[in-house]
Amino acid sequence: MPRLGVLGWPVAHSRSPTIHNAALAALGMEDWRYQRLPVPPALFAETVPALHRSGFVGANVTIPHKHAALALADEVSAAAASIGAANTLSLYADGTIAAENTDAPGLIAALERPPRGMRTLVLGAGGAARAVVWALREAGASEVSVWNRTPERAAALARDFGVRAVEKPGSADLLVNCTAVGLGQAQSPPQEATGIEPSATELEELNQLGLSFDQVGEYAYVVDLVYRPGSTGLLAAARRHGRRTLDGLEVLLAQGALSFELWTGMPAPLDAMRQAAREERVA
Ligand code: NAP
Repeated sequence: MPRLGVLGWPVAHSRSPTIHNAALAALGMEDWRYQRLPVPPALFAETVPALHRSGFVGANVTIPHKHAALALADEVSAAAASIGAANTLSLYADGTIAAENTDAPGLIAALERPPRGMRTLVLGAGGAARAVVWALREAGASEVSVWNRTPERAAALARDFGVRAVEKPGSADLLVNCTAVGLGQAQSPPQEATGIEPSATELEELNQLGLSFDQVGEYAYVVDLVYRPGSTGLLAAARRHGRRTLDGLEVLLAQGALSFELWTGMPAPLDAMRQAAREERVA
């Protein structure tokens, strides 16, 4: 039985098993399985090279292993090397391990149109922001600015990728939130935005991102990598302004689809994957 999985610590929250098992079922690949692989950091380097002996042909990699995955791979794609992180490992029968990063092309694939020529602003300077900054730069954005709560980290990231760090979020065509703001389950999470007035939770989340409610209306297209039931404060505010939005689940689906195609050689059944993820989200 060919096996796939997601390596993380912890990994119980991951939606990848739902998404990938839905894809396998939709394609009738009944002998394949995708499972959670909770592996503590101290055991990662000895566990991964042994996985192919248990029938594993591929694995996604999530926090905190994305950098370690790169270090143990025999083959590293240009994207993974530039970003400094891998989220997808291909595990060959001879023990060879190949590392890829589908987070970056996943974001570009999920956008409704390519960001070529757009002025873009990235919030955050962690692992996700690195992939997004690289992706936007490679896709031909005319400007990539980075803002982060801890400015030193934004400055370091901007240096690494030859883009600009900013002290305050400024104007842009496309805004991408790559921080963890909005991830925590607020007591009353923002729901789909219907009225004009922002809720207190929305305002609190915007405040943490260095944004005012009015300012959000200046971005034509707003993307939030965070995925949670209902809506994040940022996306709710953007919708109140009538702006176009993309949520983190769509980006997760897009990177998952690229990983799936890499391992199986089959076109990913995106609709089945989306339906399973959305159903799990409301369950
Ligand atoms: P990370 O490396 O831990 O970086 C976290 C980032 O969030 C840092 O820039 C940090 O700022 C910022 N941050 C955390 N709490 C904050 C707060 N209260 N106010 C302002 N900024 C805050 O995490 P990551 O791997 O980059 O992931 C970031 C987010 O993206 C997570 O929510 C993750 O779930 C999501 N994500 C989604 C996808 C997807 O496919 N949809 C893929 C990857 C990641 P400091 O530097 O100041 O601490």
